[in-house]
Amino acid sequence: MADGFETESRKLLGRLRDTMATEAAGQERLDHITHIIADSMGSEVCSIYLFRDGDTLELCATEGLNPESVHQTRMRLGEGLVGRVAKRGTTINTADAPSAPGFRYMPETGEEIYSSFLGVPIQRLGDVLGVLVVQSKTAREFSADEIYGIEVVAMVIAEMTELGKFVGEGEALSARHQQQVEFHCTTGQEGAAQGHVWLHEPRVVVTNPIADDPKRELERLKEAVDTLRVSVDEMLDVAASTGDNEHLQVLEAYRMFANSKGWMRRIEEDIDRGLSAEAAVEKEQSTARARMSKVTDPYLRDRLHDLDDLSNRLLRILTGQGQETGAEMPHDPILIARNIGPAELLDYGNRLRGIVLEEGSVGSHAAIVARALAIPLVIHAKKITTEALNGDPILVDGDQGLVHLRPDDSIVSAFRDKIAMQAQAQERYTSIRDKPATSTDGQTVSMMMNAGLLADLPSLVSSGAEGVGLFRTELQFLVQNKMPQRAELSAQYTRVLNAAGDMPVVFRTLDIGSDKVLPYMKTVEEPNPALGWRAIRVGLDKPGVLRMQLQALIRATNGGPLTVMFPFVAQMSEFTAARAEVDKAMDRERKLGHPLPSSLDVGAMLETPSLAFASKKFFKDVQFLSIGGNDLKQFFFAADRENEMVRRRYDTLNVSFLSFLESIVERCEDTDTRLSFCGEDAGRPIEALCLAAIGFRALSMRPASIGPVKSLIRRTDLSALRKVIWDERDRGEQSVRPAVMEFLRTQG
Ligand code: PEP
Ligand code: MG
Repeated sequence: MADGFETESRKLLGRLRDTMATEAAGQERLDHITHIIADSMGSEVCSIYLFRDGDTLELCATEGLNPESVHQTRMRLGEGLVGRVAKRGTTINTADAPSAPGFRYMPETGEEIYSSFLGVPIQRLGDVLGVLVVQSKTAREFSADEIYGIEVVAMVIAEMTELGKFVGEGEALSARHQQQVEFHCTTGQEGAAQGHVWLHEPRVVVTNPIADDPKRELERLKEAVDTLRVSVDEMLDVAASTGDNEHLQVLEAYRMFANSKGWMRRIEEDIDRGLSAEAAVEKEQSTARARMSKVTDPYLRDRLHDLDDLSNRLLRILTGQGQETGAEMPHDPILIARNIGPAELLDYGNRLRGIVLEEGSVGSHAAIVARALAIPLVIHAKKITTEALNGDPILVDGDQGLVHLRPDDSIVSAFRDKIAMQAQAQERYTSIRDKPATSTDGQTVSMMMNAGLLADLPSLVSSGAEGVGLFRTELQFLVQNKMPQRAELSAQYTRVLNAAGDMPVVFRTLDIGSDKVLPYMKTVEEPNPALGWRAIRVGLDKPGVLRMQLQALIRATNGGPLTVMFPFVAQMSEFTAARAEVDKAMDRERKLGHPLPSSLDVGAMLETPSLAFASKKFFKDVQFLSIGGNDLKQFFFAADRENEMVRRRYDTLNVSFLSFLESIVERCEDTDTRLSFCGEDAGRPIEALCLAAIGFRALSMRPASIGPVKSLIRRTDLSALRKVIWDERDRGEQSVRPAVMEFLRTQG
């Protein structure tokens, strides 16, 4: 029986291919396809609906329904049975369509006489392009074999749509990858960029979805899978020998899939139905992607991801299309990727104008690197890797979290204005680069920059920073795939110190854990990593790395000054223990006869509310404190800084938070403890201004923010602003933001 279906299926695909080979126009081809499918299925109706825009499906061809309704009948995503198939990306099969949930009667089509309905999504790599529908008068459900056959046909139609075989008059038949598309994303790094698409992973194009000789295709598949297995085994050997655990796990998952009978069997069945080996692999990949978009379990998602990667590898082997497609990187590349690791991103270095990711998070390592390189970055650009083609013009608005792919002229010119305005502002900032951030009432705030990579160092001069207020040392650990050596670290720190010359550099010791996970370090599963084993907690429990790092820092100074601080200190004893490690390291170096730093400053980051209430002794013991506002705010409001649903919920200018910060300023004044603020808020002009108004005399921010923050401080009367803040608090307002904005407006 199954054999019969397979032969039928192959025959049908053969006819489809013949249709494609003709010189006919897109519409004619579609019409013919509906005709042959209806004929082959023995059903009265076959229709093809395609998207005319992101929300609307249009009947594009039909055999059996009223021909007048072609290009007239439309439905929204989710509307009627067809809309539901498209929305869910899953098949609907019913013997009694009019009674099925969601059924909508379309009088113009004359479809009320058809009882059974089979609708399958026309989808490619998890992207639904339309719906293929078969209907008949007799009330019967379609068999599993028939459904399978129609799904294979739908897959071929999807490939052909992608290849532009149905291009014709009207929106729904417009060629793919040509219209302008807007993506609403999340900001990872502000800034605007104009350029051309560069796909991190070039897409494999399947040009021959249908094959005559299933035997030959099965052989091709077998050969490709053998090659794949060998390469996965080789990678496993390498990973095992280097003790690269995480990689090992992923590879094990690969091997599991490569040997998975279920996965292979489905691909083989697709081939039996007439698909070429690569089309069959892509069909299964598409199914996996559709599943991936629905699962929320992170473990399962990861495994589906692995399967997706494996399919890509297999497709590359089968089509011979490697990473190298011969395409040339545009001179103004905007990188498009599903996700990217920090090391891969660093490989591109400063060549990129912008980065657009489908996944990722604001605190991911890639985002950190993008920020260090000051490249505009947006994340959560849904399905952009299937829509964008290499070389497409693209605009990235990192401020608004918007991406315009293939924008029209009006958007391009508006965007150019925006870039020009930013350039003008930049010029204004350059003119005050060497001037101090002194307010109109004579208060001066020291402008420091945050850094973490050697790539940041040129900004020291260009931004007008007075030093590095926070050097995040973990970045160098994160972008490597093995633990760096002491000598290597020491050499890097020396380069940082040399670049800074006479300016101070505050090195923060390794801050890992929570969102920052070293690929080569054993990970511990924690229910609540942000509240878990991280930063100085790891440093004190496993002091080997901390000691090595301190030694590298001392050596890097070559007898010059050294400033070190510890991240995430929550109580005094942690600081005392860490400080003791510094003293021990100094002793060791002294005994070895190495030159010691000419001066040594040791401080702590205040990132948990607890430390603000530590004893006076603690405030006297530390030489300085730096507020890690990103962490401090998340713990103050109990709102995860990584969680999109809550991270913007509480205003930094909320009076509770400002009063809390002010009390820390007062305690530091009281004990003569130097204090700075180095979270992201220090780089947001309005927030920074309020921090200065409540008494912060040092702010450390990303280099690009120094100009805007300084320019605003130089135009503001900080004492008057302080009064506004106090008045608002007295008045019982929750946030001082509206009053501050009003104050700034009246100040012009
Ligand atoms: C902070 O928490 O504000 C901070 C500066 O440290 P990080 O962002 O690296 O956690
Ligand atoms: Mg922090």
